[in-house]
Amino acid sequence: AAQDRVFNFAAGPAILPESVLRKAESELYNWRGSGMSVMEMSHRGKEFLSIIQKAESDLRSLLSIPSDYAVLFLQGGATTQFAAIPLNLCVQPDPVDFIVTGSWGDKAFKEAAKYCKPTLIWSGKSEKYTKIPSFDDLEQNPHAKYLHICANETIHGVEFKNYPTPKNGLLVADMSSNFCSKPVDVSKFGLIYAGAQKNVGPSGVTIVIIRKDLIGKAQEITPVMLDYKIHADNNSLYNTPPCYGIYMCGLVFEDLLAQGGLAEVEKKNVKKAKILYDAIDESKGFYRCPVEKSVRSLMNVPFTLEKAELEAEFVKEAAKEKMVQLKGHRSVGGMRASIYNAMPLAGVEKLVAFMKDFQARHA
Ligand code: PLP
Repeated sequence: AAQDRVFNFAAGPAILPESVLRKAESELYNWRGSGMSVMEMSHRGKEFLSIIQKAESDLRSLLSIPSDYAVLFLQGGATTQFAAIPLNLCVQPDPVDFIVTGSWGDKAFKEAAKYCKPTLIWSGKSEKYTKIPSFDDLEQNPHAKYLHICANETIHGVEFKNYPTPKNGLLVADMSSNFCSKPVDVSKFGLIYAGAQKNVGPSGVTIVIIRKDLIGKAQEITPVMLDYKIHADNNSLYNTPPCYGIYMCGLVFEDLLAQGGLAEVEKKNVKKAKILYDAIDESKGFYRCPVEKSVRSLMNVPFTLEKAELEAEFVKEAAKEKMVQLKGHRSVGGMRASIYNAMPLAGVEKLVAFMKDFQARHA
């Protein structure tokens, strides 16, 4: 029953809209009169084809994806894209530029070094990944094939609010943890990629949005499964795709459209994030968010307790009140509340009320 559900603040896999889960439940055994579950369908049958085509066209509507961009539904997570991107966009010694604003960008940078020649043109590491650089000061290599950013660093809670313009080449962005959380001008990017398991579905689906003229230039050593041309030519059906995951993403896209699209979704996300950051900033130091205010993530809110010894107690008490997964990433400690699209306002309000009560009892 609905009252048994928790408010799940996990960073991913993460909370999904209850209405989407109910819809999936209602179609679980017999998808729209087909007599089959989506899990049992041939990926080449007309039923599944209608599912993947609808998912793609709804995503195109949501993000206003221009027609000269391909949408690919892939596997392997965003981590696989860390390799696939240089394999497809570079020949081995090509230079590329990286701005690293957190751990995920750092991982992407290290993986890219196997397949091209990445340069770290800015790193936030010495400031514990709490900032985004000023774009004017960046020393971009004019020959770089692309500039890579992680649009939202899930662990550190740092989010680009606007984007640098690559000097020569293309902007490539890992949007795993803020995908479909707000409108994005896709035409500013050569490639956008995102694992589904934060804002748009279950794990197992990775979405790549790529400008079509970039497809078809993969390095010779590129495995077939990482070659964008293979997937684009076959409409993401070269091999068996993650069918059920794609179906779930489709239900989420429908739900986001029904909410009025991403501009409406963004308004809700801004409101939720404001309530939470305000509570942190107004706690007189009891709670603290280390991220520079102008680049705080709408999706992942890291915070620490002034009395660090109370953190375990905070997490435990919150869980008792059905607010779970609030422990920060093991690499940074403290707490982290992930408040993706599907987190209801009521979940954030409940967390804030709990935080105030906890402070009153422990100040
Ligand atoms: N990039 C970002 C921003 C992430 O948050 C994550 C996962 O949490 C990844 C990449 C890795 O994604 P995956 O586990 O799907 O490979």
